[in-house]
Amino acid sequence: MSESTLRIGLVLPDVMGTYGDGGNALVLKRRAIMRGIDAEVVHITLDDPVPDSLDVYTLGGAEDYAQRLATRHLTRYPGLQKAAAAGRPVLAICAAIQVLGHWYETSAGERVDGISLFDLTTSPQEKRAIGELVTEPVHPALTQPLTGFENHRGGSRLGSDAKPLARVKHGVGNGVGDSTEGVVQGSVIGTYMHGPALARNPELADHLLATAMGVDSLAPLDLPEVDRLRRERLAAGRRR
Ligand code: GLN
Repeated sequence: MSESTLRIGLVLPDVMGTYGDGGNALVLKRRAIMRGIDAEVVHITLDDPVPDSLDVYTLGGAEDYAQRLATRHLTRYPGLQKAAAAGRPVLAICAAIQVLGHWYETSAGERVDGISLFDLTTSPQEKRAIGELVTEPVHPALTQPLTGFENHRGGSRLGSDAKPLARVKHGVGNGVGDSTEGVVQGSVIGTYMHGPALARNPELADHLLATAMGVDSLAPLDLPEVDRLRRERLAAGRRR
């Protein structure tokens, strides 16, 4: 590893790895390497303290119990909180949104304190939200529709310090009846989109990479297979 290697933290894939969201770290690495930037994925497991010195962090979704183990670990080793306070980009998927909020209530009705990187709280909805999700971003760095697959029972209500990532066109999103999807607070972005989200949404991947590299934006990559995947998934979402 050289000094200039971009270090991508995959946080707790051993407990927050159920839905394939580890792919987001691989997409970041691949898109960096395609631009001639050396990059590596650093796996941070329950056996490791969470470092605060990485360039970008990703966290995936999980079931309620695994989510609780992750919450305990992130509370005990506050490296992610320090990195976020220093403006490092963080991507939190589904259960990770909930863990990064003030608290979440499990399907069994227990309330668990989160790590408060997001001004939001999460309670179970009546019905599990499952299926393709299509949204229009409200984040200023994003112009393209977002596509993902949602699978969650929790519904997240944003407080005034948290802004939505997008408005729902098809699907459920944050699930509290206000058509919002995802959350943005400082350099931390959360979304209910599995997929993995960054494989389907290259603009979001490049926004995280640009923030990690301290540049305003990156020239897009020409990848026809990604365009095809997006066309397919957006069409599937519109049928929902
Ligand atoms: N257990 C959480 C919920 O159902 C998160 C699920 C997930 O990460 N897909 O809301």
